[in-house]
Amino acid sequence: MEKLQNYINGELVPPHSNEYFENIEPAIGKPYSLIPDSDESDVLEATKAAKAAFPIWSKMSVDQRSEILLRIAELIGENLDELAAAESRDNGKPLKLAKTVDIPRAQANFHFYGTGILHFASESHSMGNLAINYTLRQPIGVAGCISPWNLPLYLFSWKIAPALASGNTVVAKPSEITPYTSYLLSKICIEAGLPKGVLNIVHGLGPKAGAAIIEHPDIPMISFTGGTATGEWIARTAAPKFKKLSLELGGKNPNLIFADCDFDEMMKTTLRSSFSNQGQICLCGSRIMIERSIYDRFKTEFVERVKALKVGDPSNPDTNLGAVVSKPHMEKVLSYVELAKEEGGTVLCGGNRAIIGGKFSDGYFLEPTVIEGLSYDCRTNQEEIFGPVVTIMPFDTEEEALAIANSTKYGLASTIWTSDLKRAHRVARDLHTGIAWINCWLLRDLRTPFGGVKESGVGREGGFEAFQFFTEPKNVCIRY
Ligand code: NDP
Repeated sequence: MEKLQNYINGELVPPHSNEYFENIEPAIGKPYSLIPDSDESDVLEATKAAKAAFPIWSKMSVDQRSEILLRIAELIGENLDELAAAESRDNGKPLKLAKTVDIPRAQANFHFYGTGILHFASESHSMGNLAINYTLRQPIGVAGCISPWNLPLYLFSWKIAPALASGNTVVAKPSEITPYTSYLLSKICIEAGLPKGVLNIVHGLGPKAGAAIIEHPDIPMISFTGGTATGEWIARTAAPKFKKLSLELGGKNPNLIFADCDFDEMMKTTLRSSFSNQGQICLCGSRIMIERSIYDRFKTEFVERVKALKVGDPSNPDTNLGAVVSKPHMEKVLSYVELAKEEGGTVLCGGNRAIIGGKFSDGYFLEPTVIEGLSYDCRTNQEEIFGPVVTIMPFDTEEEALAIANSTKYGLASTIWTSDLKRAHRVARDLHTGIAWINCWLLRDLRTPFGGVKESGVGREGGFEAFQFFTEPKNVCIRY
């Protein structure tokens, strides 16, 4: 079986321990490659390389850094087919999705930050005839970047690209569940001529290789995307070391559907916002609230259309939902369906493992599931499920919808469907989320601030926010 390798100091190398563990293909339910079981010693070596590369990379001209990042973007584009196939195989997602969303977005991340850095400037503050202050925005050193399994290369590159563009070097760990495309990225970086040690990718388990990155004294900033429980541990561990932290965590996103919305547009988009990537996008809306006067109409049409979604072979262009990422994750999602029943919910469709047959008979497929009849404050409506499961709830007033929407500990994204302009703005203002979409979903401009409030995270990614995170401002005051 193919053995993936770490990318340290410009080379592909085995882990010190020479130990590997299996990488499972979710649609088949069987291992197909081996992942380095890296430990603290690999992280130490990677950090040493990143530290040694920092003076050269950080002092390189912005143009030169930009050129290399743009070359990486170009190579991602040239290898679209291979990368998309690898992402689909590793994660279980439909190939079509990987090819149209994941990989083009990873390419866009390198392109966006590779060009964005050319436009990044800092402020000056005049004190009239007395003095002038100017702010230096300096790269910090070695950035630790840790990403999850749902959008593997997309989220990995969303961190690495701005960290590198702003002159830092990086030690990064992808999720051990979906390491393959970051392994391919290491090869692309070598081909693109990224100087050795600038980016180091260490594969392995979160509590071992990941924790070693968080704890390393020479890594002063951590950019993490993943679950809230892991984020909480990271915050607790990094705080006494005074590390800079950016945390993008879990969500339980509400969709607020008012009776005056464009019903067809809303229906089409709500199907996507519920089940894209098998519901495993942190921005998917999993609590759907519908104004009571259109509740029955919504329910009938939504359930009918969900039943028509095709679950199966990720490489089939007609497939809407592929496999969920792993067996434990599939079991977790199914356990929430059982919980919903215990809490008094009615499963309107789905609720089971989907049996595909043939070579996919052991794959981790789930039927898209719609549940109604639950109270807004039950566990099913408060905890993140992160799978193809949504609940639907009627509401009577805007105030009630807002109260339900804001009732969870999370606050990542929300979606509002209405044709009333005043209400749209009012509700967007009053929702406790970092992102509010009005009459759309997942429409992303990479310049906008991205992140959540409450237990959905700390800090913002995207645009110049990312450059601000990955640089330290220094004020210089000169007296005339
Ligand atoms: P996890 O928190 O389990 O893992 C995220 C990453 O952290 C993985 O690379 C994991 O490694 C690593 N990790 C785990 N434990 C530690 C540790 N102790 N120290 C350092 N690193 C560690 O999240 P999932 O991978 O399960 O991802 C799903 C979660 O991500 C969901 O909650 C989802 O909402 C959230 N998410 C948030 C987004 C946002 O922008 N807010 C976007 C996308 C997802 P390993 O996999 O090897 O264990």
